[in-house]
Amino acid sequence: MSPPPSTCDVLVIGGGNAGFSAALSAAQTNPRAHVVIIDKCPASWAGGNTYFTAGAFRTAHNGLADLLPLVNNTPPEKAAHIDMPIYSEKDFTHDLNRMTGGRTDPALAKVLVQDSREAIGWLAQNGVRFQLSFNRQAYEVNGRLKFWGGLALKTEDGGKGLVEDHLRAGQKHGVQVFVDTAATALLTNPHGAITGVEVLCRPHQKRTITTGAVILAAGGFEANPQLRAQYLGPGWDAAHVRGTPYNTGDVLQIAQRDVSAKAAGNWSGCHSVAWDADSPAHVGDRGLSNEFTKSGYPLGIMVNRDGERFVDEGSDMRNYTYAMIGRRILAQPGQVAFQLWDAKTTDWLRAEEYRAEVTRHLKGDSLEELAEACAEVGLVNKERFLATVEEYNKSVRPGKWDPAVKDGLSTHGLSIPKSNWALPIDKAPFLAVRVTSGITFTFGGLAVNPETAAVISETTGAEVPGLYCVGEMLGGIFHDNYPGGSGLTSGTVFGRRAGRAAAEDVGARDRL
Ligand SMILES: Cc1cc2nc3c(=O)[nH]c(=O)nc-3n(C[C@H](O)[C@H](O)[C@H](O)COP(=O)(O)OP(=O)(O)OC[C@H]3O[C@@H](n4cnc5c(N)ncnc54)[C@H](O)[C@@H]3O)c2cc1C
Repeated sequence: MSPPPSTCDVLVIGGGNAGFSAALSAAQTNPRAHVVIIDKCPASWAGGNTYFTAGAFRTAHNGLADLLPLVNNTPPEKAAHIDMPIYSEKDFTHDLNRMTGGRTDPALAKVLVQDSREAIGWLAQNGVRFQLSFNRQAYEVNGRLKFWGGLALKTEDGGKGLVEDHLRAGQKHGVQVFVDTAATALLTNPHGAITGVEVLCRPHQKRTITTGAVILAAGGFEANPQLRAQYLGPGWDAAHVRGTPYNTGDVLQIAQRDVSAKAAGNWSGCHSVAWDADSPAHVGDRGLSNEFTKSGYPLGIMVNRDGERFVDEGSDMRNYTYAMIGRRILAQPGQVAFQLWDAKTTDWLRAEEYRAEVTRHLKGDSLEELAEACAEVGLVNKERFLATVEEYNKSVRPGKWDPAVKDGLSTHGLSIPKSNWALPIDKAPFLAVRVTSGITFTFGGLAVNPETAAVISETTGAEVPGLYCVGEMLGGIFHDNYPGGSGLTSGTVFGRRAGRAAAEDVGARDRL
């Protein structure tokens, strides 16, 4: 692998969805610009967290007819069986506000929502293969495929397919990619404008890349246990990492150290899910990836190792609870919990998350047997476990169960309710799995100008000339919780804007 060039026009740090979106946008805005992406990971880890995703993109849309032209897996005979509500810009804005307790930055949220549909169309035009997400986002109820939770699109072959498509689009537009190249410092002139980046090429070669514009797209600090404990709080060093081990927060720190980049957003917050307790702790698995996710809790209940329920498993559709459920699990003794179901609901669990080849199934033909199986892997209080299930079963009222809507089938009289999809757990055989908290990405990042994603200086309050920031590194949009599929859309929306602005910087210099 040849080393990166000593000069280029636009340098993107980080080769995930946000970085590739920015690079493509820059190359399209100014076809004469030399656009380079560097990434510190080796080739075997290319694609960052993006590679690990399910490729789910949230966008405002006008219903099925609006999305059908984008997708390659829905012939007319299948489309005739689909129910998909319109997801308006108002709906998306409302979801961002309610997920974040009204703390999302309104200017950033507005750009994210308003650009979302156009950004997806742009990706599709550039060869990203979209599909309707039947397996994750629709349930078949009475012969109709009912989409739910405001999220309908994914990429073919998930994150792996998305990274392949980005690479192809980048190559077509002359974008060069160099792995094994870590950014270690940002260089500026006496006026504070970006002039270059110092890098360390594997194994030990320091180089300087001179450039007029830098786009930071190097992910958050989710793979750094020390920073997790420091910013997210005690216990977070024990969370399992869902994705790349290379998102260690170094570029966030470099930007703060070298250009006094202003911090923004929820530095104690992160996206974290229910995750297989048997998964590797410090690194995601590029083969199994999302198979470790365990988001079937709305169909059953969860108890901690003391046998107590600790969360309303049915407070909302999964897309609106799965990103904060990891925090609730992390707060339990031993950072573990058990998810359980009976024979009425096990068939509704998604094979991609629960198949026995990947997930350890704890089984019982009675609840006592199930408690015994759980006790073998860490359940401490079997008696409380059984009493909890009994209390829960007694609290459930009859009604019509429908997993594709908030069906209002709730418990009555429990201190921790289950607000929807509450069926008694009473039909053998029973199934449980053991979960822990899997961290996806961190919410804290850098402050930017929403129009261009230009980085703001803490010292001057002005933009750092020539510096942009996108993707997980951009702070201010997500707080506490997150509407599923918004991270990729954010990376593309702000990546496009940053790429355009960076290429225009270069164009302006050319004209001088
Ligand atoms: C298992 C999993 C599933 C997910 N599913 C979804 C989903 O379906 N939909 C969704 O919207 N979001 C999903 N997410 C969140 C999603 O990953 C992010 O929103 C998005 O991919 C982040 O893109 P990015 O470009 O900001 O970062 P990344 O894709 O992580 O890219 C950052 C890159 O920066 C590189 N880097 C780090 N430090 C340096 C340095 N010093 N120098 C050079 N390079 C550096 C890293 O090696 C990495 O390749 C998921 C995440 C995980 C882990």
